[in-house]
Amino acid sequence: MAGVTIEGVTKVYGSRESGIVAVSDLDIEISDGEFVVLVGPSGCGKSTTLRMVAGLETITEGTISIDGEIVNDSEPRDRDVAMVFQNYALYPHMTIRENIGFGLRYSSDLSKDDRIERVEDAAAMMGIEELLDDKPGQLSGGQRQRVALGRAIVREPQAFLFDEPLSNLDAKLRVKMRTEILQLQRELGVTSIYVTHDQAEAMTMGDRVAVLDGGELQQLAPPQEVYDHPVNRFVAGFIGSPSMDFMETTVEERNDRYVLVGRSNDTLSYALDRSVTERLELEGGTDLTLGVRPEDLDVIGDPADRDPRNSFEATVDVVEPMGSDNFLTLDVGESDSWTARVDSSFVPEEGSQVGVTFDESVLHLFAADGETLKSQGTTTESYHEAEPMTP
Ligand code: ADP
Repeated sequence: MAGVTIEGVTKVYGSRESGIVAVSDLDIEISDGEFVVLVGPSGCGKSTTLRMVAGLETITEGTISIDGEIVNDSEPRDRDVAMVFQNYALYPHMTIRENIGFGLRYSSDLSKDDRIERVEDAAAMMGIEELLDDKPGQLSGGQRQRVALGRAIVREPQAFLFDEPLSNLDAKLRVKMRTEILQLQRELGVTSIYVTHDQAEAMTMGDRVAVLDGGELQQLAPPQEVYDHPVNRFVAGFIGSPSMDFMETTVEERNDRYVLVGRSNDTLSYALDRSVTERLELEGGTDLTLGVRPEDLDVIGDPADRDPRNSFEATVDVVEPMGSDNFLTLDVGESDSWTARVDSSFVPEEGSQVGVTFDESVLHLFAADGETLKSQGTTTESYHEAEPMTP
């Protein structure tokens, strides 16, 4: 087994001067046995990155190494990686046994008996032994996905590369297969790179998550760290569901305190703690984006009961009962509405006014260029001083 290192990798489709930059100067070091998820919106360069590791796409600049060996120029079959796709790519005319064994076609050093044994072991591992003589057409989506996984593990590769493998499955099966893939990866200890646009998949599966946007790496960290301490507004908004709520504010200096004032909601005035403003070296007149997660909001049924100092008013647009809790869509006076996640017993009337407040510890602040100045419970200073977590 082996680590995978992506170093200064750029991919330009078309000519270097005027082509499409799909991936830009990407650095990701994946340790031996680690599970790293590449996540980001459509077109951010996830698949291109994975395909470069697999050898299916040339590298414009930089190097990719597997187990310390630069593989830029080696053929896909010589890289000893196994790829699992969303469309399974099973051969319809072959049995499941033949489909799984197909991955061994280049292993000339295996005897026929070894091959049979490996296929049966892989099928047993995926719980599909009884399907070995069936054809793919007879199988359900979940079973076909297990065959595709069986075909990857039978090769005992140095690394697994997953390209949105679960996006064809229904929601319930997707969650089940997530767990199966994770268990399999833990059992085999094979270094894995997993591409998805689904942040929930990234959060639940990755030892570390690499968030990409516009071909550039935004953040590479364990899921909880990305959630609690996103490095910028993009990551803050992308990771988490429902996503973080944002409001545009301006800092005002009032009686020696710095207060955030809503730019399109004039009921917001939020006095920041001195320790925060000193560390951030805030100045009056600065524009900042405030961010709070929906579960961190306190919604006050009667706006007359709100403390006007650290809260604001909003209108309830929609109440969505989720069973365990309710999601409120709030009109906060900006084009983007807010979502609040509240107790299921709290059902305000649609169209009514409410008060909204939150603790300073859960408040995120972003500079005009999107960089995080303060994340949950920290300021940038303590955040950047924190030791990077190793998986
Ligand atoms: P993702 O997997 O995150 O959706 P991709 O890696 O597929 O993103 O694509 C990244 C960018 O590269 C996109 O702008 C996409 O349109 C472009 N791209 C991908 N494949 C090709 C190709 N074969 N030729 C030209 N442009 C491509």
